[in-house]
Amino acid sequence: MNSKFKIFVDRLKKVDEEIKEKVSFQALDIENEKELKFTKHILIDGKAYISNEDLIINLNIKFYITMPCSICNKFTEKELLIKNLYITEMLSDISTCYEYKDDIRNACFLEIPSFVECMGNCQERQNTKKKLKKESDKNFPFSNL
Ligand SMILES: [Zn+2]
Repeated sequence: MNSKFKIFVDRLKKVDEEIKEKVSFQALDIENEKELKFTKHILIDGKAYISNEDLIINLNIKFYITMPCSICNKFTEKELLIKNLYITEMLSDISTCYEYKDDIRNACFLEIPSFVECMGNCQERQNTKKKLKKESDKNFPFSNL
């Protein structure tokens, strides 16, 4: 039985569970889109424990995406980090195990910025600025009318 992304609560009653996974995005049922691609692997690191009547999963997640740069349109890779994600679920709602795959997938998608710039600072940005400046120079004579 595949126990990836599954926390068996019986086991947790005795000892906290360390979580350390390196998975492919396909393992999270993520399908790449034309303008948003997950690359490399997804690193998941943290622990699961029981607190009172709740299952708590506390994770750091690191993953990589490529998206077209919002300025020059070149695909650019970005490393994204989710720090201290807390997933909580009432123990009374869990029969034997809790699967946190969907929580991870949702957290990843929430973390994706709506636009990226290559290397955090697109080279083309300088050119765009210059172009804008030139155009405003060009428009300048109109203010004399
Ligand atoms: Zn760019």
